[in-house]
This record gives sequence, C-alpha cells and structure tokens, in this order.
Amino acid sequence: MRVKCPNCGLETEWEGNEFRPFCSERCRLLDFGAWADEEYSLPVESPDGLSPEELDEIEKAAEKRTTE
Ligand SMILES: [Zn+2]
Repeated sequence: MRVKCPNCGLETEWEGNEFRPFCSERCRLLDFGAWADEEYSLPVESPDGLSPEELDEIEKAAEKRTTE
C-alpha cells in the first residue's frame, strides 16, 4: 500500500516504513515541529482584544463553513 506523506505529499510505502505515514524522518520531524510551533504560538489571552462573544461568532462562522 502506498500513502501520501502528510508533510510533502510524496507517495511512500506504508509497509515496513518506520516513519509512516511520513516518507522520511525529516518529514516526520518537520511535521511534529510545525504542530508544536502552532501549539506554542496560541495566544493565552484573546487576540486583538476580541470579546468572548465575538470569538464565539467567529467560531460559529468557521464551523458553518466546514459543514456546508
Ligand atoms: Zn515527506
């Protein structure tokens, strides 16, 4: 079975691939790194002084977009 590497999109073998679903150790590390960076960059407080109500509306709008 061949799968696409989530990081670079390269087709890679699933069986016997110790880095799966990635094509290489490099891609695996890069992806984990990006994920960690995103986590750490999450603001502790509301960004740009948005109120909780405004944030709620943005969230609802985003949800609506994904379900449509
Ligand atoms: Zn890759």
